[in-house]
Amino acid sequence: MECPKCYGDMDTVVDDVVTIERCQNCHGLYFDQLTQELLPDVMGNVDVDTGTDEMGSTYDEMVYVECPKCDKIMDQRLIEEPVRIRFELCPTCNATFLDAGEFREYTSAGFLKKFTPLLPE
Ligand SMILES: [Zn+2]
Ligand SMILES: [Zn+2]
Repeated sequence: MECPKCYGDMDTVVDDVVTIERCQNCHGLYFDQLTQELLPDVMGNVDVDTGTDEMGSTYDEMVYVECPKCDKIMDQRLIEEPVRIRFELCPTCNATFLDAGEFREYTSAGFLKKFTPLLPE
């Protein structure tokens, strides 16, 4: 699959209930579906987030990101307070894209309670 942000090649790094692909170039993570219900299971795979925050921030501001499955522009989910969270979610298939470092950050103690409600149920 091609990365929806930088068009690099993606490798499948988790093939379970949720498939996770990681971009060889920007190290962003694509989840083929991510919901509030699936999140606790998916969190066990946090080690696949091998990129650095610096890599992720390069692509964080990108606005028009197409879902690789649906070819539709993904929604931006964003809060600024009390922590900053920003990621892409496909309204059609619940696919989610997290920039490098965001999976680890958003599932950490200070972020998780704010991140979870931004996901579909
Ligand atoms: Zn990429
Ligand atoms: Zn989609």
